[in-house]
Amino acid sequence: MHDDIPLTLGRVARVLGERIRPAIHPVALPLEVQWHELPGEPIAPAEAMGLDYTDYSVGTAWGAAWGTTWFHLRGTVPAAWAGKRVEALVDLGFDKNMTGFQCEGLVHRADGSTVKAINPRNQWIPVADTAAGDEKVDYFIEAAANPVLLDYHPFLPTREGDIQTSSSRRLYTTARMDLAIFEPEVHELSLDLEVLLELQAELPAGPRRMRILQAMDNALDVLDLQRITETAPAARAELAGVLATRADESAHRISAVGHSHIDSAWLWPVRETIRKVARTSASMVEMLDDDEDFLYGMSSAQQYAWLKEHRPEVYVRVKKAVASGRFLPLGGMWVESDTVMPSGESMVRQFYYGQRFFREEFGITCAGVWLPDSFGYSPALPQLMKRAGFEWFFTQKISWNQQNTFPHHTFNWEGIDGSRVFSHFPSMDTYNSQLSGEEVARASRQFRESRHATGSIAPVGWGDGGGGTTREMTGKARRLADLEGSAKVKWEHPDEFFRRAKTELANPPVWVGELYLELHRATLTSQHRTKQGNRRTEQLLVEAELWAATAAVYSGFEYPHEEIDALWKQVLLHQFHDILPGTSIAWVHREVVVEYARISRAAEAIIAAAQGALVGAGETPIALNAAPFPRSGIRTGAGVPAAELAPAGDTVSATESEEGFVLSNGLVTIVISRRGLVTSAIENATGRETIAVGTEANLLQLHQDFPNKWDAWDVDRYYRNQVTDLRELDSITLSTDADGTARVVLERSFSASTVRQELTLSPGSRVLQIEQVTDWHETEKFLKVSFPLDIRAEHVIAETQFGHHKRVTHVNTSWEAAKFETSMHRFVLAEEPGFGAALVNDSIYGFDVTRDSTDSGVMTNVRLSLLRAPRFPDPETDQGLQTHRYGLVIGADIASATEAGALLNSAERTLTGAHGFDPLVTVEGAGIVLSSVKLAGDKSGDLVVRVYESLGRRATGTVNIHHPVASASAITLLEDDIEGDGGIAEHTNGTVKISLTAFEVRTLRFSLSR
Ligand SMILES: [Zn+2]
Repeated sequence: MHDDIPLTLGRVARVLGERIRPAIHPVALPLEVQWHELPGEPIAPAEAMGLDYTDYSVGTAWGAAWGTTWFHLRGTVPAAWAGKRVEALVDLGFDKNMTGFQCEGLVHRADGSTVKAINPRNQWIPVADTAAGDEKVDYFIEAAANPVLLDYHPFLPTREGDIQTSSSRRLYTTARMDLAIFEPEVHELSLDLEVLLELQAELPAGPRRMRILQAMDNALDVLDLQRITETAPAARAELAGVLATRADESAHRISAVGHSHIDSAWLWPVRETIRKVARTSASMVEMLDDDEDFLYGMSSAQQYAWLKEHRPEVYVRVKKAVASGRFLPLGGMWVESDTVMPSGESMVRQFYYGQRFFREEFGITCAGVWLPDSFGYSPALPQLMKRAGFEWFFTQKISWNQQNTFPHHTFNWEGIDGSRVFSHFPSMDTYNSQLSGEEVARASRQFRESRHATGSIAPVGWGDGGGGTTREMTGKARRLADLEGSAKVKWEHPDEFFRRAKTELANPPVWVGELYLELHRATLTSQHRTKQGNRRTEQLLVEAELWAATAAVYSGFEYPHEEIDALWKQVLLHQFHDILPGTSIAWVHREVVVEYARISRAAEAIIAAAQGALVGAGETPIALNAAPFPRSGIRTGAGVPAAELAPAGDTVSATESEEGFVLSNGLVTIVISRRGLVTSAIENATGRETIAVGTEANLLQLHQDFPNKWDAWDVDRYYRNQVTDLRELDSITLSTDADGTARVVLERSFSASTVRQELTLSPGSRVLQIEQVTDWHETEKFLKVSFPLDIRAEHVIAETQFGHHKRVTHVNTSWEAAKFETSMHRFVLAEEPGFGAALVNDSIYGFDVTRDSTDSGVMTNVRLSLLRAPRFPDPETDQGLQTHRYGLVIGADIASATEAGALLNSAERTLTGAHGFDPLVTVEGAGIVLSSVKLAGDKSGDLVVRVYESLGRRATGTVNIHHPVASASAITLLEDDIEGDGGIAEHTNGTVKISLTAFEVRTLRFSLSR
């Protein structure tokens, strides 16, 4: 027969777009509108609704960047509309090509209760399901004029990212504010056609596709374009047959969950996220009422806590929906944090505070970790998830890899300690699914485990102010539940998916080690002050807990539970995956730096008060040590009168000659050239040289750094092609401090910037320490400091949470080549049999390593990443004064690198008092490190002690409490009891014997005798 498929497709597309969709709301009347523009920050809805309002005509521009405008909409449903479903339609001036990232509104009734949000692709407000014909409409809309920062002109520098610099120009113009009839049958017809049109596009030539095409033609043949409402049922009847044929027995199963990925801060400040969460949550509880199969999932305890505090009327509705099992708390974390940079204790607290909130508020403990969007995943996570009681892990981000395609969708992920966690990446490759035919087909086609497993997860809904799941998506889900030619879609709790997937995949594939994201590598460096604030405050809070717990047990000091909890939660919020990575607007980072200063002051105050209680009133200088290694002979958690401390070692000899400066302390001898570059660093005992022959270490290198896109996020491989070595020197001087430390101070100028370095070698130390102050005024540059080490390292060892991981130094395969910028915590170590050297730091997370060939063989060049200067989204990123502290450890192994890194990050403290004191907790055993000493979160007064194995091998030792102990037990990271043998911890006079496997983290609870 003659056939013309394009003719049918063109016909359906045109009629659907031009006639059927507009006929969903066939009749409309304008509402009466008044408005009130708020000059500054948002105010409470009750207050805003009481303001004076003036008349507003639709089509008038509104909303300067970041401003809030309240609209008051009033009207009466006409008598002629009796029996119809009536809605209000509000278009604030949306760009429908963008799903979010722009203006939004939250609709309130006059009594202050919330209705739902309006978003670019969700502009309706319910008025009456079946109108009586005289309903009064009285709605207030809190409209937020959030500027578009990414979509129109991606990655161009903009001043709109901070209310202090944004323009006062009104950004949006309303397009309609109407009352309208909603025709359900026309709405359903449009979805019938859309689903079939999208499905047939994915089908092979064959009978199923041809039947769908014919059914669509038949439907349009009976549809009268001038009487669409009246003829829609007949058109739908023509489609009923092809919509009723059932899916294949072996069709892929999609476990859909309603979702809205709301970044806790990004191209908007935290205060706007609070409103975004309120808007989307209001819409989603409304949606749950409308569709009984629908389920909606939301992660991040912080987002629920915001609702509770700021939008209690929305929170009440959410809480009810959680109780009925429809609104699903996901992830068990405080926020969807970065997982590469936070410390081990920080990751524990993400889980601890997240799960504690969900338990206290909802009686729910989340079973899985939900992180669709963070930028790579630490190999320490599997153990931490397991020890926090999680059963599964979910992400999607690795599908963004530039080079390599990840080989699994459902698999076991094995961490540094050998723990495995059952994991899933959605094969749809998105966390903003709209259940299009193309997405559904892609999920089925790409799924890698189809030989054994039946399905994948799809998070469905628009994020970031898009408003979550729409009624079009739920309508599609209904049609795709069991439809021939399609994967089967079902709303389902992710827990159900994981339970089934686990039984299907008895022998899942295994991925070992970090989930490295082959993109966004510069997030380890951008916004240095934010990263420094994170490192400092997470360290300070661990110290505050140690001293407060010690003082509480020894001298009855009142442990400030609430204050410490609040400070931790603020630090955890800043670990959100667009804050700590440095990828938010200027406003966010400006506020974060202020907050870090506040947290530091508060933590220092706790430390000072607790230490004061420990040493008593007096005038004797007492030195204290919070680092998990002895410092100057002071044990961890102890205070010792400074006069009793043994001298650290001989004064450093420092000589100056034509060639430069020679510093030696008996352990190491260092030569610094007159240009301030390190040309030699020798371990005296062996005579072993650390610096590769003919090279110079401490060489600052400036690269042009202009990635193809994602400026604050990305550094592209070609950045290495353009480099300037900073050798020019303004001044250099040598001096010796009173304590015998030798000090070389140098200053350099380059382009618009200056840098000052102080290189010091202290008595008894193997570390050449460098304090650097940079006055940074560069554009699109990357500053590195290079240490070419005379070490032929097969891999480098970088610290991560509670341990380290090894990365090979060669680039034999595309997987290794892609890792041209990688992460560390406090140290990176290059080792060959018999000798190693480490670089330690107090606020750096990024580095790169190359195997460079010299006359004497292959050496290892380790370069720390210091500063960048991207101009999007913050045009002033990292400008101004920046400080770094780092050091070269000469002759290092894992143990000494771990120790040097820990000591560099823990401040030395001396205060005056009456007496010293012994530590409350001591730990014995090679490689066992004390991570945390705190009082239990249940306020029982019990002591919680966390230790880990740091060397990557089995270890035995003891944890000793220097106070009478009533009982001891092993607990989870959530401070829960462990059932069975794992929970037993026999103690003898407060000493518990422990044996740990490689990198094992162990948490103990001690009930103390009073
Ligand atoms: Zn995100």
